[in-house]
Amino acid sequence: MRLEIRKYGDPILRVKGKPIETADERIRALAADMLETMHAANGVGLAAQQVGAALQMTVLDVSQVEDRPSTLTLNGAVVDDLTAAMPLVLLNPVLRLSEEKDSGTEGCLSFPDITAEIERALSVELEAETLEGEKIRIEASGLLSRALQHEADHLNGILFIDRMSSAAKASLSSKLKRLQKDTQRNL
Ligand code: ZN
Repeated sequence: MRLEIRKYGDPILRVKGKPIETADERIRALAADMLETMHAANGVGLAAQQVGAALQMTVLDVSQVEDRPSTLTLNGAVVDDLTAAMPLVLLNPVLRLSEEKDSGTEGCLSFPDITAEIERALSVELEAETLEGEKIRIEASGLLSRALQHEADHLNGILFIDRMSSAAKASLSSKLKRLQKDTQRNL
């Protein structure tokens, strides 16, 4: 089932997600709905807050993006074919960021028609749990590294506008105010 994507201005986007202790039936159903919602919206990632649930769960799929490459190492093994490892459903992710930074264009399904250059760590290491209760270890660079950082931020109530330069945020300020107002009118 496709879920409504919460937009900027909805207070749920600022709520830190609760850790998930067991991936029960309800969590599995939510994960399936989040994947369907993300794919239908042509997104590369979606966090639980974006569909109204303040939980530590995110889904990602960068396998369809050809012009922005990613690398992925899963439990120590390099994944050559990203489609084989995607989509990812990650519970309770913990990230370690590289010192080296990289700037790139980012958008967010909660901010329609808004993109900005955001500086992020060039690569990440991540530990998380899967829906099957397994612990997994990921090393990623490229678009996947960026997407993992963007989604992990969502799980902590942090939005990509918080990471924009003040100049970029100022230039988007009227668009952001309008979006916030529209969202709050419809809450
Ligand atoms: Zn987002």
